[in-house]
Amino acid sequence: MSVQEKLIHDLTYAELEQQVLSMGEPRFRAKQIWTALYQNYKNDVDEISTLSKSLRNKLTEIFNINPLRTVRTVISQDGLTQKTLFALHDGVLIETVLMVYEDRRTVCISSQSGCSLSCTFCATGQMGFNRNLSQGEIVAQVLYFARYLAEKDERVTNVVVMGMGEPFLNYDQVMAAISRLNDPDGFGLGARRMTVSTVGVVPRIKQFADENSQVNLAISLHTVQDELRSELLPINRKYPVSLVLDACRYYIRQTNRRVTFEYALIDGVNDSIEDAAALVQKIKGMLCHVNLIPLNPTQGYDKPGTQADQVRAFYDVLERNGIPCTVRLRRGIEIGAGCGQLAAESKSDLS
Ligand code: SAH
Repeated sequence: MSVQEKLIHDLTYAELEQQVLSMGEPRFRAKQIWTALYQNYKNDVDEISTLSKSLRNKLTEIFNINPLRTVRTVISQDGLTQKTLFALHDGVLIETVLMVYEDRRTVCISSQSGCSLSCTFCATGQMGFNRNLSQGEIVAQVLYFARYLAEKDERVTNVVVMGMGEPFLNYDQVMAAISRLNDPDGFGLGARRMTVSTVGVVPRIKQFADENSQVNLAISLHTVQDELRSELLPINRKYPVSLVLDACRYYIRQTNRRVTFEYALIDGVNDSIEDAAALVQKIKGMLCHVNLIPLNPTQGYDKPGTQADQVRAFYDVLERNGIPCTVRLRRGIEIGAGCGQLAAESKSDLS
C-alpha cells in the first residue's frame, strides 16, 4: 500500500491525536480534523479551512481522505432509491444504496466486496468474494450519502449493514465502523438507528450479544428446515437452524432486545402455509419481528418471488399466532438495488 493509500477514516480518535502530535502539531488539530471529517463530511483536505496550509499539505502527503471513486449512480423511477457503484483504491468494487422514506434516509452499506458464502439466490453470493473492507471504507459509504443529503439540508437517519458481504465475517472492522458512526463527537448516529444483518455466524452472534450494544440485529433465516436452508444458504451446514436460534435466544437474554428475522419468500420453495406454521413453531415466544420480502430476481437463480396473495396467506399465519410481522416494501428492484441484488461485474462496470 503506498503512503497515500493510508485512509484517514481508518484511524480512531486516539490514533489521529497521536498522528497529529507526531507531526509536531498541537493536540486540538485532531479535533478540527475529526469535526471536518465526521460532522462536515469533508473529503478534500484543501476544503478544511480551519487547518493551516502547511498541515493540509502534510496530511495530503500521508493520507487519502477520499477512498471512494464513484463509478456510476443509478436512480429508481420514483426517485426514492439510488445505488452507487464505487471503486476503492485497489480497484475493488462495492455498491451502496440510499433509500428515501417519508421520515427516514437509510443508507445500506457493504461490509465486503463480494461475499464468500454463496447463498444461491443472492447476487453478491453469486459473484464470489474479493476482500474485506476496512472500517474507514465502511464509514466512507455513509459519509458519501451524508454529503449528498446535506446539500438538500437532509441527514442520514439510519444505517443498515445489509449491502454486499457478510458483516460477521469482517466483525472487527464492522464494529469499529459502527462505533465511529455512533461517536457523539463525530457522526453521532444513535446505535438504535443502525442494524447489522447476518446469515447466522453463530459465534459472532454471541460475541455481538456480549457487546451489549443498542445496535439492532437481523438474521437472514428464510426457512427453518435444515435441508432446504443448507441448499439455499450453504453456511447452514456449519451453523444449522437450531444453533442459530439458540444464539438468538442468547442475544435476547443478554440484551433484552428483539431480533429481526429476514424471510425472503420464494414461490413454491419456502412460502407454503406449512412453512409458515413451521416458522411459528420454532420462533414462538421469542422477542422477535419477522420481515417478509418476496424474493427479488437475480441472474443466477431462476425461481420467482412469491405472489401477493400467497405473501398475504403466509403473513396471516404469523399474525394469527401473534408473531409481529411486516411485509417489506420492495424498493429499487428495476435498478438492481433491492435486497440481494448488489453485485459488480468488474469488466463491464469499470469500462
Ligand atoms: N450477509 C448478510 C448481510 C446481507 S443482508 C446477511 O445475509 O444477512 C441482505 C439480505 O437480503 C439478506 O437477508 C439476504 O438473505 C437477502 N437476500 C439475498 N438475496 C435476496 C433476494 N434475491 N431477494 C430478497 N432478499 C435477498
